[in-house]
Amino acid sequence: MTLAEIFAQSGAAMWGTCAFDELNMEENRRAQALSLCENAQGVFVAAYPYFAGQRPGNLSLYARGEDYHRVLLRRLNQVVLSLQELYPGYRFVPGSDNSPLDERQCARLAGVGIHGKNGLVIVEPYGSWVFLGTILTDLPLPSAAVPAPDCLNCGACVRACPGGALGAQPFDESRCLSALTQKKGALSPEETALLAAHPLIWGCDICQQVCPYNQRAVCSPLPDLTGSGDLPYLDSLTPEDLEGLSNRTFRAKYGDRAFAWRGPAVLRRNLELKKQQN
Ligand code: SF4
Ligand code: SF4
Repeated sequence: MTLAEIFAQSGAAMWGTCAFDELNMEENRRAQALSLCENAQGVFVAAYPYFAGQRPGNLSLYARGEDYHRVLLRRLNQVVLSLQELYPGYRFVPGSDNSPLDERQCARLAGVGIHGKNGLVIVEPYGSWVFLGTILTDLPLPSAAVPAPDCLNCGACVRACPGGALGAQPFDESRCLSALTQKKGALSPEETALLAAHPLIWGCDICQQVCPYNQRAVCSPLPDLTGSGDLPYLDSLTPEDLEGLSNRTFRAKYGDRAFAWRGPAVLRRNLELKKQQN
């Protein structure tokens, strides 16, 4: 099989490679990467689409299917098996959102997608509704001759961002509602007001929903990310869904979802804020 066939078979909508030495990394992250793959030389980066249509609900679209960390690792492990056959003797370390690599930077160098002002990578025809996965390797790999381009720079995402997170340079995560929905502990009055007015109890899709590239995004063919596989798509959580759940029973019920790692307390708080608002 060729590399193109291997990635296509894993469900990747787009893939590319970059040279490890060209990555701009903090020293501790570089050391972490080298502890995973001594003599790292390159990175494969691949994009997996997850859009299942715009449907009502109170969870961000990325969190409605099976936990993407698990899905991507499963799909990347499939790629790794084929790479080991193609390049025996080399090391391949898959990662998804949990590796020392900056996936967006890898995608940029690899020429994967279009890079949005909202910080997301757009892969047509799926828009920015894609997850990025990486495979770190000691196989020497080149970066793309031309890095991935920037988006239209229309500014719609900056104008629509409720917290003003995108107006700031660099991105101000403390003002991002996606981060706020996950924040534990006391909230300031401003944060409370932002969360109460926000339609979702987990995540935020606004800077994606307004992006012109996403207006004609097509649905992903990948069943595990779109609820057509073993795990049903979950649009919303209600207070009743969480009633009586301890941390342990919450994880037993929702452990295969991307929102499960934070436990039930923040979700209950966010649902309560909605109730007070209504
Ligand atoms: S996810 Fe929401 S709050 Fe965060 S940058 Fe995008 S629009 Fe702003
Ligand atoms: S909304 Fe406009 S500025 Fe923002 S990512 Fe999309 S094209 Fe770029």
